[in-house]
Amino acid sequence: MPWSLVGNERAIRVLQAGLANGAAHAYILAGPSGTGRATAARQLAQALNCTGAEPPCGACTACKRIAAGIHADVQTVSLDTDADGAARKSISVEQMREVEAAIALAPYEGRTRVAMVDPADEMSIAAQNAFLKTLEEPPPHAVFVLIVQNDERLLETIRSRCTRVEFHLAPARDIEAALLARGVEAERARLLARLCGGRPGWALEAASNPRRLEHREEALATARSLPQLPLADRMDLAERLWDAFKRDRGPVIRQLDEWAGWWRDVLLTQSGAEDSIANLDETAAIAADAREYRRHEVARFVQAIVEARGYLGENVQSRIVLDALMMDAPRPGAASRDR
Ligand SMILES: [Zn+2]
Repeated sequence: MPWSLVGNERAIRVLQAGLANGAAHAYILAGPSGTGRATAARQLAQALNCTGAEPPCGACTACKRIAAGIHADVQTVSLDTDADGAARKSISVEQMREVEAAIALAPYEGRTRVAMVDPADEMSIAAQNAFLKTLEEPPPHAVFVLIVQNDERLLETIRSRCTRVEFHLAPARDIEAALLARGVEAERARLLARLCGGRPGWALEAASNPRRLEHREEALATARSLPQLPLADRMDLAERLWDAFKRDRGPVIRQLDEWAGWWRDVLLTQSGAEDSIANLDETAAIAADAREYRRHEVARFVQAIVEARGYLGENVQSRIVLDALMMDAPRPGAASRDR
């Protein structure tokens, strides 16, 4: 399998062109999650160790072992969990020292040692400073790949030593075509391409993992019921979300994305832009909510969800973000009283 990435062919061309002139020692792959940064990093590691005629061939032992995550020369540093199973807030200096010690050794089974750091924007400042020393004199057989959403959180001295490749949200039609090419049924492909918000990684995973869509249905049911809940129940919900967030923030952030998606669709419908909604399988319920709530209250709630999601994504560890969000839900029946 040669280089392939839905909707980010340009990023692949930049990586390929770089390889033709000898790989850089460090790359920053920057962009939203689900846009193929980790896939591209893996394909880069394959290209650097492939023994096939056209690297990355996807068929040789090296390519297969890298795809399976068992190649001795390819490592990933990510957020550890602590003794309670909760995700740590940052990548520590010890983690970086460990991978740097491993990568200093000559390659064991391939040609190039590759260390990926994902998410590299969660490296602590101490970890970044330790890494910077390695970057200043990188081992000749090593390539580092930093996967980030926001590379402004990296030291300028790190950024200036890396080749930056940018990833973008992919057009829905490219994602739909990729899903169809993988045998996903047409109506489902159209829905997933809209729902994923430009993230082919999400769409491909949802196509093969029905649990993803079940989680979405649960999240949408909560998004819909929120304005009807008494305040005490909303605070209970904030507390449950907060507990879940402390253990693993990913699912909570995805849930807020679903909430934002729902209320954005309600707002689009209120604004006469029904054709642009994402939740194509829920048009009737969206239309009902569009009649139920005042448009400016819906707009404010969408804004509040997006802000809360941003704070939590930036790792602001504050329960207040979730409490405040619960107060911002639109008031039920207000629109009908206006008529
Ligand atoms: Zn290969």
